[in-house]
Amino acid sequence: IRAAAQNLAKQAESGVPTIFDKIVKKEIPCTVVYEDDKVLAFRDINPQAPTHIVIIPKDRDGLTQLSKAEERHKEILGHLMYTASLVAKNLGLDDGFRLVINDGASGCQSVYHLHLHLLGGRQMKWPPG
Ligand code: AMP
Repeated sequence: IRAAAQNLAKQAESGVPTIFDKIVKKEIPCTVVYEDDKVLAFRDINPQAPTHIVIIPKDRDGLTQLSKAEERHKEILGHLMYTASLVAKNLGLDDGFRLVINDGASGCQSVYHLHLHLLGGRQMKWPPG
């Protein structure tokens, strides 16, 4: 699994379109809950909570994973987090929610296009698995 994750990371870094690139280009369908010119938020296909939203930058611009972030990404990183708070509000997660970013093989990342997981609608536990 670690080798598979590292392979996926390399592919994405060398410009191979990810599943999320295809979603942005509307080649793969998804249920959009929020969209603007920079970011897209849609329902996760394999939800881990009653509400599970994936929030991505439309332009990956080198951000295959958070650990690749550079100075120029600060604005989009803030935009993604602000979008999470907006979507949580729109979806009525008034009692709280969780934001997750999985990074790399040890972080259990499976799609190498930076994304935030917004999870809500149930009581979360700590520590996560
Ligand atoms: P991660 O494991 O953090 O890389 O998260 C990738 C997430 O993308 C997982 O929660 C998947 O269920 C989700 N996912 C993969 N393919 C799709 C898809 N076509 N539509 C919506 N969500 C997807």
